[in-house]
Amino acid sequence: MHYIGSVTREEMHISPSGDDHDHSQCVAGAVARVEQCCVAKGLRLTPLRRNVMRALAQSHTPLGAYDIVERLTAEGEGAPPMSVYRVLDFLVAEGLAHRIESRNAYLACTHPHDIDEVVVFLICERCGLTREVGSHAVGRDLAWAARAAGFTPRQRVLEVAGTCARCREAAERDGATAPDGA
Ligand SMILES: [Zn+2]
Ligand SMILES: [Zn+2]
Ligand SMILES: [Zn+2]
Repeated sequence: MHYIGSVTREEMHISPSGDDHDHSQCVAGAVARVEQCCVAKGLRLTPLRRNVMRALAQSHTPLGAYDIVERLTAEGEGAPPMSVYRVLDFLVAEGLAHRIESRNAYLACTHPHDIDEVVVFLICERCGLTREVGSHAVGRDLAWAARAAGFTPRQRVLEVAGTCARCREAAERDGATAPDGA
C-alpha cells in the first residue's frame, strides 16, 4: 500500500533532480536500462538508441526531438530527425522514456513502473525541471473514477505545472521586491 504523505521518498519513486545528486548515475543507469531491455527482448541496441537515451538522461528538463538532434550533432553523432523520432517512439513504447504532452518533449524514465501506478510529472514553469512521481494512491482513485464513468483510460499520466523547490527558494531570496520572480 502506498499513500502520499506516509511513504518514503524511495516508495514514492521520486526521480532525482537538481544538483543534489550524482548525475553520472542518472545517465549510466538510463543507458543500462536500455541495454537490459534490448537484451531481455532480443532487440538490437543500435548506437542511435544508446545515444538518444544518453542525451535524454543528461537532462532533467524534457527535451524535444530537435533538442536531441542538436545535442547528438554537437557530440559528432548526428542523425536525421526522423530516425531520432523513431528511437523516441521505441523508448516510450518500452517504458524507458515518457512523452510530456504539454511540452511536446521527452524525459528519460528512471525506474520501472507498476501496472496500477499513475505517473505524475511535476513540471516547473520557470526552469522546466521535471520530476517524476509514481503513485499507487492516485492510480487507485483514478481507476475508480474512470470505472464509475464507464471510461477506459489509454494512458495514465498526469502533468502538474508549478514551481520547483529551487525556483521557489530563488524567488524567496530575491525578496518581496520582486514577488513574481521572472
Ligand atoms: Zn541527474
Ligand atoms: Zn517513468
Ligand atoms: Zn524551477
